[in-house]
This record gives sequence, structure tokens and C-alpha cells, in this order.
Amino acid sequence: MKLTILGNAGPYPGAGGACSGYLLESDEFKILIDCGNGTLSRLLGIIGNLNMLDAIILSHLHSDHISDIMVMRYALGIGQVKGTITKSIPLYAPKDPEDTYEQLQFNNAFIQNELKEDSLLTFGDMKISFRLMSHPIKTYGVIVEKNGKKLVYTSDTKTCESLIQMVKGADVLLSECNLLEKDRNEDTYHLSAKQVAELAAKEGVKKLLLTHIWPEYNINDVLDEAKKNFSGDVEIAAELKTYEI
Ligand SMILES: [Zn+2]
Repeated sequence: MKLTILGNAGPYPGAGGACSGYLLESDEFKILIDCGNGTLSRLLGIIGNLNMLDAIILSHLHSDHISDIMVMRYALGIGQVKGTITKSIPLYAPKDPEDTYEQLQFNNAFIQNELKEDSLLTFGDMKISFRLMSHPIKTYGVIVEKNGKKLVYTSDTKTCESLIQMVKGADVLLSECNLLEKDRNEDTYHLSAKQVAELAAKEGVKKLLLTHIWPEYNINDVLDEAKKNFSGDVEIAAELKTYEI
């Protein structure tokens, strides 16, 4: 599997940056996970044409994870009328809030499927499953498994039991890391670098990629806090970098 980081900021991008969006590739399949602002342009720079995309997964419907869907729907819906787009793209997302879920559609841009905790997607021998996270709206962590390798994406969450269970033994953990520990309190629905690193260490994660970074932080402070608490392989998920899993 290959994972390309299209954007690593949240909940808004710094100058020249982009919010959450990740291209997952496996054999002949190309799957977009989240589609935050700035990611469509980068996606097209890699795949060239939206006909190449096999599916889209939206972990939750906060704007920094879906806002480019609102313009991608025009590319797909109008492209079908013009004849440049040959298919509707399967899109999987939680139906929460319901009105936002309904707004994702334009013409026949997408084949919409409600994402639920027992949803299981199969692309060849790659399996994708989901766990409910702890965030103000329904949010799913994503588990991708193929050939004995395990990639876990936390989406957005505070610490919770299903997060701990999900990350166990991950070869790669792509984790949100929106806070430094000094800025975390019980009301924040995100993880600090310290929390992510401690979780990775305890649950046997092999490689940790930090994403959904608050753009006003110095990324070296984020990375340093993580390194102090995880002696394994850790880095900031670099925009436009491709990781082999
Ligand atoms: Zn969120």
C-alpha cells in the first residue's frame, strides 16, 4: 500500500498548506480518505483525472475534512454532462449532520453510502473497517489491512477505548495531533503530541505519522513532544510525501 499526504493541517491551513486529505493506493485501486480544503488540487496533480478515483471515504463531516468535496462535486457532476467524467464515484460518509450529508451530492457526482461502525469495504485483498471515535459529531477511525500490514488513521478524536483498541500493533499510525500537551484540557476533542506518542509506545505502533497540526504551532515543538514520549519511528506527515506500508 502507498499513502500520500495531501494536507496535514487542521482546522484551517497555514499559508500554502492544506487540511486533511490522504490518497491511499493499492494495486489498481485509488481511494481518497478525507477531502479538506486544498486537497483536490493536489489530488489532481497526482492522479490527473477524477475518473482514476475508485472511492472516497469521509471520516466525519467537519469542514476541514470535507470542504473540497463541495467543489469536487461540480467537477464530477458537470464533467458527466460534458462527457469528461464517465462515472459517479462511490462515497462513504457518516450521516451526521444529516443536512450536510445531503449537501455533498450534486447531479450524480457520487454514489452515496452511509458509513456505519460495522461497514466493511473491500478493494481486492485490501480491507477497510471503522471504529467510532470520540468527537462532537459521528466520526470514524479507519483501519486498512492488506497482506498482513495494518494502517490506522485516527481521524479526529480525544482519547477513548475504541482508539486504544484500534491502534494496537499498527504498522503505521496516521494520527491527528492537534494539540501540544500544554494546550489540552478535558473539553478539547483532540489529541496532544504527548498523548499520541504514549499511545503509540504502549500499543506497539511501528511508525507514527503526525497530522492535523494546528498551523500556528512550530512543527518542531510538536515533533519534539512526540519524540520525548515515543522512541520509535515518528515524523510529521509531510505534505505530498508518499509512504510505503
Ligand atoms: Zn473534526
